[in-house]
Amino acid sequence: MLVEKGTPGFETLRLEKKMGTHASSTAALTFTDCRIPRANLLGKPGEGMKVMIATLNKSRPSAGAQALGIASAAFDDMLTYTNERIQGGKTVVQHQANTFLMADLATELLSVRLLLDHVGRLIDDGEKDIGVEASMIKIKASDLAMRLATEAVQMFGGHGYTREHRVERLMREAKVTQIWEGTNQIQRQVIGRDLLARYS
Ligand SMILES: Cc1cc2nc3c(=O)[nH]c(=O)nc-3n(C[C@H](O)[C@H](O)[C@H](O)COP(=O)(O)OP(=O)(O)OC[C@H]3O[C@@H](n4cnc5c(N)ncnc54)[C@H](O)[C@@H]3O)c2cc1C
Repeated sequence: MLVEKGTPGFETLRLEKKMGTHASSTAALTFTDCRIPRANLLGKPGEGMKVMIATLNKSRPSAGAQALGIASAAFDDMLTYTNERIQGGKTVVQHQANTFLMADLATELLSVRLLLDHVGRLIDDGEKDIGVEASMIKIKASDLAMRLATEAVQMFGGHGYTREHRVERLMREAKVTQIWEGTNQIQRQVIGRDLLARYS
């Protein structure tokens, strides 16, 4: 623990009421003249940015992995449901527009899995300069999670909008993956700045 509960000057202002992510609390914290023991320092004084970047290079791929899990769950639920529900004399997935949608989404899922494997291998190999790849997987996986969860709700029809099925929760859980660890706009800025620096 970096700042122990009860440290003078450290206060929890409020617990946020959120759209999802209910298994973990999110709170606004304040630190007023708050002194912490030297032993609790992360890294060395003046090297905070270095620690933060090294952390983000791993936490962004983790956020991507979580988003990929949401996307995969939405895809499984959608395929199961549309394979059972009959409309217009055939299963929902057998209508060609829907078969093609599933084909596109399966292709997207595989490409994001492969990108995540690639970034995981860079981390395992001890590669330090992976800021761009970390941002790329964070964008691709979270945008796919949001898209897949939204398509899943749509494929469930009216049932998708109820709490009877998991897809409505997946849609709420997917949203935050485009926001935390730096919004996807910020990830695009990281990638764009790197490109500009390399080609200018
Ligand atoms: C459930 C939850 C848990 C969280 N957990 C943590 C945590 O554990 N640790 C932690 O440090 N943070 C955490 N966060 C914070 C999260 O990382 C930030 O909310 C997020 O990075 C966005 O910052 P912001 O809220 O200040 O939005 P802002 O920076 O105010 O952004 C508002 C809008 O402006 C856009 N924007 C901002 N700057 C630019 C720019 N330069 N160019 C283009 N568009 C821009 C953003 O993309 C966004 O659309 C959490 C957030 C949530 C919702």
